[in-house]
Amino acid sequence: PYDVLIIGGGPAGVSAAIYAARKGIRTGIVAERFGGQVMDTLGIENFISVKHTEGPKLVASLEEHVRDYDIDVMKSQNAKGLQKNQFIEVELENGAILKSKAAIISTGARWRKLGIPGEDKFKNKGVAYCPHCDGPMFQGKDVAVIGGGNSGVEAAIDLAGIVKHVTVLEFMPELKADEVLQKRLYSLPNVTVLKNVESKEITGADKVEGITYTDRERKETHHLELAGVFVQIGLIPNTDWLADTVERNSFGEIVVDRHGATSLAGVFAAGDCTHSPYKQIIISMGTGATAALGAFDYLIRNE
Ligand code: FAD
Repeated sequence: PYDVLIIGGGPAGVSAAIYAARKGIRTGIVAERFGGQVMDTLGIENFISVKHTEGPKLVASLEEHVRDYDIDVMKSQNAKGLQKNQFIEVELENGAILKSKAAIISTGARWRKLGIPGEDKFKNKGVAYCPHCDGPMFQGKDVAVIGGGNSGVEAAIDLAGIVKHVTVLEFMPELKADEVLQKRLYSLPNVTVLKNVESKEITGADKVEGITYTDRERKETHHLELAGVFVQIGLIPNTDWLADTVERNSFGEIVVDRHGATSLAGVFAAGDCTHSPYKQIIISMGTGATAALGAFDYLIRNE
């Protein structure tokens, strides 16, 4: 068996793998898609000490770093179940079962998509999902935020301090965000809130130039000219494959303690698949390191 088996090869998993391998223990990492969400990212300007990089370039560095150690890297493998007998057993889609004394889950998350024309076409060309990441690129421009829940309203407040004007589009007749956030939102001079509207299409030639939406009550169609659309309708953790083997919260995020430990002894978790409130590359790497050190601590106490 492995000493530590990591499931997920994004920044959290890679960081966990390197921290584990540096303890001289038998380490494996299984990933459906090595690099994770970073592969889909164009410009990265908040990975501290690197002023600017691009997703695939950062992933190449992650791979180079991981290959520097004696780590079993199993790419293009999907985990479909986890259980604990004498060892922790991870079942792969191809039928293989990997055994390990400790495991770290770092299967990340994915943004819920709108599924309207233009969304895929203009991804990274005006369609964005992360205000912390891409907000500064829209300085002095008009943008829309789709979604009036907590994350949408937080994004709108954040963006209002950077961009020229923000329009919030909410499908339901009321915003779902906390009262205190709504109050702050409505106090801002450069924000417009549109409720009971359905986003229909993101338009443009090479990049986003506007959005078309309908007023659901009046059944009228409108068009707004703007440079960016932030989609904020939810982040879905990739944790369904775990069923109820480890505790998850109402969003499906894995609940971990200070050491990255889950509710199942010997199983740790890190990154966007956990209940960490902020989902960023640097944070995923930090929690990956925490989980690996937590797993090592567990091993030396349980051998
Ligand atoms: P992920 O990156 O999601 O990696 C999850 C890994 O698990 C992948 O390898 C995946 O294939 C694998 N996996 C999933 N399910 C299974 C399974 N069942 N079996 C095996 N493997 C599985 N953050 C920043 O800090 N700065 C930015 O500029 C930035 N820009 C972004 C732009 C975009 C378009 C997106 C989508 C995100 C951006 N983020 C940015 C967020 C950042 O990418 C994430 O916070 C980070 O990648 C999370 O790392 P992670 O390792 O937890 O998960």
